[in-house]
Amino acid sequence: MSATQEFTALRGSELPAALVEIFARMRRDHADALDIINEMGHRQTEVFAGYPSLAKYLSDLLRITTRKATGLIEQAELVAESVTPVGYVAPAKLPLVRQALHEGVLDSEHVVAIAEAVTAIPDWAGPQNKQLVESTLTQTARTSDPRVVKQYGRILLARIDQDGENPHQEDQLAEPANELHLHAQPNGWVKFRGILDPEAGEEFVSLIGSLSLPQPPAEGVPDPRPAERRRGDGFAQLCHSAAQLDNSTAGGAKPHLHLYLDYQTLTAQVGTATLDGGAFLPATAIRRIACDAGLIPVVLNGESVPLDLGQEHRLVKPSQRKALIARDRGCAFPGCHLPARWTDAHHIKHWADGGPTDLGNMVLLCRRHHRLLHHSAWEIRMVNGLPYFRPPAWLNPQQKLMRNVLRQ
Ligand SMILES: [Zn+2]
Ligand SMILES: [Zn+2]
Repeated sequence: MSATQEFTALRGSELPAALVEIFARMRRDHADALDIINEMGHRQTEVFAGYPSLAKYLSDLLRITTRKATGLIEQAELVAESVTPVGYVAPAKLPLVRQALHEGVLDSEHVVAIAEAVTAIPDWAGPQNKQLVESTLTQTARTSDPRVVKQYGRILLARIDQDGENPHQEDQLAEPANELHLHAQPNGWVKFRGILDPEAGEEFVSLIGSLSLPQPPAEGVPDPRPAERRRGDGFAQLCHSAAQLDNSTAGGAKPHLHLYLDYQTLTAQVGTATLDGGAFLPATAIRRIACDAGLIPVVLNGESVPLDLGQEHRLVKPSQRKALIARDRGCAFPGCHLPARWTDAHHIKHWADGGPTDLGNMVLLCRRHHRLLHHSAWEIRMVNGLPYFRPPAWLNPQQKLMRNVLRQ
């Protein structure tokens, strides 16, 4: 007998109870689904499936919007228990909600309403107030719809706020609770999420904003990067430049990262080098990194003895950098708007190949365009003491030399 026939066989008065039973089952299933989602998050299932985030993976797997997937992940983080590798069960952040959810009496909208209220409780209110709000609202949710829970949550929050001054306000200003969570990926990439206080947040947003403007069309081709890619490149530039800052305070010679490689790797461009953390880099990347003073390679001979490659000859002197800034006034790549403080001094002919560290062999490039010059068919020609860029044939069949018109 099909499900439809089963229900048509019921008397009219029996239908509501049947519907309630099915909803309870769906809600218990929803609770189980959140447990599985939480476990997938812990085991980084999306990484092994080749996805950048769990939300994107769930979106494809379940054919739901990324927005819905993100909402499920947020709920899972609040109501799921997690089991550590040694078998210890860490309780859910909202244990009472978890219990009611598994009983099948809460809808996912109830969970959202309770979570909103609990997370909005200021830290100074203490854990006991959080527990009180959670238990009160969970009790309300057992008998009311999510809208009522939401309204009641607002009332409780207002009461907490009125209950005297925030005693820790000064503490919060003195030491805001900034957070940054880092997750190293097996392939060497790094995932992160975090939160900044309003002041730091504004500085961050305005810095990233200025570093992630779209590039004006080059050869009629508009900047192909979507906003999140441009912001990502901007953030990478920010880190790169901050790392250089560390060098300049130490007289321009203090490496922030060591790179171990042998002379053969540098000159023949084959093989790999090792970073401090043990990660491997291919030879072409090594030459780019070793191009400016940002990273000092420890070049070893065949017997692993460090070679002195005349470091003072290949590091850009402050006076040379000043002259480069006067000439290039920022990243010299056609169409790039990044000012000089975000640039590396690129050796047009690599110092490892005997290229001198002088003005005629150097050009200022931002991090992104520095990568492009080292890892693509773009080339630089000096004409009358000025750098011109030769595009790859696929972009411009005539390979007409280009200048950055923004600097002229
Ligand atoms: Zn370079
Ligand atoms: Zn640039």
